[in-house]
Amino acid sequence: MSSASSLASSLLRPEILDLHAYHVPDSSGYIKLDAMENPYPVPQALRDEIAAAVAHAAINRYPDPNPAPLKERIRSVLGLPPGMEVLLGNGSDELIQLLAMAVNKPGAVLLSVEPSFVMYKMIATFTGMRYVGVPLVANSGATDFSLDLPATLAAIAREQPALVFLSYPNNPTGNLFSADAVKQIIAAAPGLVVVDEAYYAFASDSFIPHLASYPNLLVMRTFSKLGMAGLRLGFLAGSAAWLEQLEKLRLPYNVGVLPQLVAEKLLAHHEVLLQQAQQIKLDRAKLLQQLREIAAVQVYPSEANFLLFRVARATEVFNGLKQRGVLIKNLNGGHPMLNDCLRVTVGTPQENERFIAALQESLRDE
Ligand code: PMP
Repeated sequence: MSSASSLASSLLRPEILDLHAYHVPDSSGYIKLDAMENPYPVPQALRDEIAAAVAHAAINRYPDPNPAPLKERIRSVLGLPPGMEVLLGNGSDELIQLLAMAVNKPGAVLLSVEPSFVMYKMIATFTGMRYVGVPLVANSGATDFSLDLPATLAAIAREQPALVFLSYPNNPTGNLFSADAVKQIIAAAPGLVVVDEAYYAFASDSFIPHLASYPNLLVMRTFSKLGMAGLRLGFLAGSAAWLEQLEKLRLPYNVGVLPQLVAEKLLAHHEVLLQQAQQIKLDRAKLLQQLREIAAVQVYPSEANFLLFRVARATEVFNGLKQRGVLIKNLNGGHPMLNDCLRVTVGTPQENERFIAALQESLRDE
């Protein structure tokens, strides 16, 4: 054992030894409001259809490396502009990694804003890119966590990043950045800008219609938040000139037979998923209002399927919720701007009620 660990220490890159693995807590038995999943199961009729299709799936064969029908389905549900292509990923996490590998010349920079999705920094680290995080503007009232446009443009001019990621809406803050500021960043960036629309189903805006206007823009999406987290399917949308090159880095069978098949069936009933997303948006508004009514809580507006809120002694409150069977995400101790911040995923109306009741009880304990 010790010899294996000393061999690992001597062989592994020091930045890998310093990394902490992405932490996924054990959620069994909890009301699970920690990971931005859609709380609704697939409707029974559709499950039966999927089951029948799965029964005939050729799982003895490798998956189709270029599943044209699934891609076509994605193009049509997205309304992708003509000339734009899609590249499929095993979740969008995989696509972040693929993009980093593609542009990672010696000294290349990956730039994002902070706080944002932690995998941008983590993937930069393990692919050996230099990471630059530009702080968002905190505590500015209605526009909390907005882009600091002058600082971001200055960092772009100074660092010349090969790759910029902007989460739109942003995780974990939930807000949608100013579209105009994002456009200025895309126009100023010398490299690729990826607008990460993981939460598109809950948001009021998208950069897909702007794809043709910027030669350095790609839009990344995932179906994880729309009810397919277990399938692991994400995609990049952009011009063929980019995607043809990026295809070379995609491992040939990165999306399995079953995810391809199930996603195609689900996307054929896209309206069912969008209806669920619509319900989640209505419940988000209700939950926001309920959190606003709790004096001890400062809640931030959100265009995603989660709400960020601040509360004194957040870790105790998080543990109080856990003791009452509700698992959310504790962001306290991560980024300094997120001190005393917690993030709750919008669940079913019943789950949200359980969360609010458990929160009120936990606050009374304090
Ligand atoms: N981007 C953002 C902003 C996210 O919040 C997440 C998931 N938390 C992802 C990408 C990755 O999603 P997935 O790998 O499930 O597609």
